Amino acid sequence: VNDRFPRGRFAPSPTGLVHLGNASAALVAWLSVRSRRGTLVWRLEDLDGPRVVAGMADAAARDLAWLGLDWDEGPDRPGDYGPYLQSERSALYQAALARLVAARRIFPCRLSRKELREMASAPHGPTASADVYPASLRPTDLPDDWYEQHVASAGNAALRFRVDDAETHYVDRVYGSRSERVAESVGDFVLARRDGLFAYQLAVVVDDIAMRIDDVVRGADLLDSTARQIQLIEALGGERPAYAHVPLVRNAAGEKLSKRDATLTLVALRDAGVSAEQIVGYLAASLGLLDEPRRMTAAALLERFDWSRLRCEDRRVPGDAVRILRAIR
Ligand code: GLU
Repeated sequence: VNDRFPRGRFAPSPTGLVHLGNASAALVAWLSVRSRRGTLVWRLEDLDGPRVVAGMADAAARDLAWLGLDWDEGPDRPGDYGPYLQSERSALYQAALARLVAARRIFPCRLSRKELREMASAPHGPTASADVYPASLRPTDLPDDWYEQHVASAGNAALRFRVDDAETHYVDRVYGSRSERVAESVGDFVLARRDGLFAYQLAVVVDDIAMRIDDVVRGADLLDSTARQIQLIEALGGERPAYAHVPLVRNAAGEKLSKRDATLTLVALRDAGVSAEQIVGYLAASLGLLDEPRRMTAAALLERFDWSRLRCEDRRVPGDAVRILRAIR
């Protein structure tokens, strides 16, 4: 992995407003790239149409810019690796599927989630859990032209990736050395759904390869997608990026932030009188980059950025977060 001039990315899903958790992952992604004079790509992950909320893409750009972050390529900044909206990149995902078909790494699966669940609950059934797709369900006698037939019939089957049985090892900059046997944790996972939607795992990997991303920094909720993505990168002949997962921000009840935590979005905090410098300082302290929260710009934090200081424990925001943030000097 190239340690100078890395290419990193912000990959927001426009499904809700940016909250302290998204902001914290974006801040670290920005620090990682800017501290090494690299390039930041903004890629909008808008594939899951039904979950996309109008206006959220622009809101995310406005909120991260307000926080003091910037980027070099994206929907609003022409670059060499566009389009920067996943909804406009279908041809690339299609081409990757065809390549995996040729490599015999994909097969069609007509089982519904319900059927998989029923198999899992049957005694001595082929699946131990509805979340793990067992190798025993792989088709053994696919006709040579199954994919042409699948495309011609407009699908009606999901496409699954035939995972490698070996253990996948990787080193995360925050969480250290990790390994996972994907065949046991999830099994053959879906790359394209029955309704034709490309899966997140496929789109992320195809885009990271095509956009020459070699620095992936994102929330720790995606740690358990990493081994799957590495297998897919290797099957597509790509090179692994460096990975860093940023510990989650949890609410006072200890839950991962969600739509319910509306007071912890950047917009709500700004409206409540909290400044960008107070948020950056608070997040920096919670990550281990400052001993005490104090007002700080993202740019000023660059000097103190050091992976070895980053803690890998989830953070919890107290119930009176707004008061605490506003009191930061
Ligand atoms: N779009 C994903 C999210 O907003 C991030 C995907 C990634 O970083 O791999 O959580």
